[in-house]
Amino acid sequence: MGYLDGFGLTFMKLFEETVTTSYPDEKRPKPERMHGRHVLNRYEDGMEKCIGCELCAGVCPAKCIYVRGEDNPPEAPVSPGERFGFIYEINYLRCIHCDLCVEACPTQAITETKMFEFSFTSREDAIYTKDELVVGDDGQPKHLPWEDWRPGDDEHTSAWMRATSPSGDVRYVGRVGWAGELGYGVRAPELGQTAPSAEELAAAAKAAAHDDHGHGGHGHDDHHDHGDHSHDDHDHGDHDHGDHDHEAAHG
Ligand code: SF4
Ligand code: SF4
Repeated sequence: MGYLDGFGLTFMKLFEETVTTSYPDEKRPKPERMHGRHVLNRYEDGMEKCIGCELCAGVCPAKCIYVRGEDNPPEAPVSPGERFGFIYEINYLRCIHCDLCVEACPTQAITETKMFEFSFTSREDAIYTKDELVVGDDGQPKHLPWEDWRPGDDEHTSAWMRATSPSGDVRYVGRVGWAGELGYGVRAPELGQTAPSAEELAAAAKAAAHDDHGHGGHGHDDHHDHGDHSHDDHDHGDHDHGDHDHEAAHG
């Protein structure tokens, strides 16, 4: 009769919440630091961040980046400083999305989106060129015909995705550690791993609102206390960001 227990277990599962989704028709939200296909970022004034230094190509374990730098034309510079990335290619037949190129880049020029749903039928399409990688005039990644972009796939493409950026150091929690970028401006700083998540903050606000409604003055006091705590966390080290940022950006 033991096998009937198995049927019973299967039957009981029919009444539990379904955790599978109809992928690819339905995509689940992706983690903020997911490694997808790259973009080459631009500053808020539209200039390219890449200076053609080739550090990304040098560090790439799969040898899939090809970069050539060239002197900026004085009358129409492409990037701040002396040089810019004249040729930039990534071979996605080789890339393992380790993000070492992102970590190595001194100007936060190369970062990754959360887009990994792309496939191609030719070698030419698999090798992304600079034109395809540089963000558009709205700061958003270009959407290529063989890529399946959905809302949210192009969020959080900027330098703050770097695992070893200064903001990965606890002393930099709450301080911006990256340059502003086209379409986004200067992004808000990270709050550290122990900071409450957006979901936790939303749940706390909801609970506080419920307490206010049901218990009058008692709920209000609780809400006030929590608000002060978060505010302090957020303000920590909020000063002197501009200098650090500017140095990081323009080297
Ligand atoms: S993610 Fe890794 S493998 Fe891909 S281009 Fe960057 S360094 Fe190379
Ligand atoms: S993407 Fe960054 S590391 Fe690579 S060549 Fe450009 S500036 Fe240098």
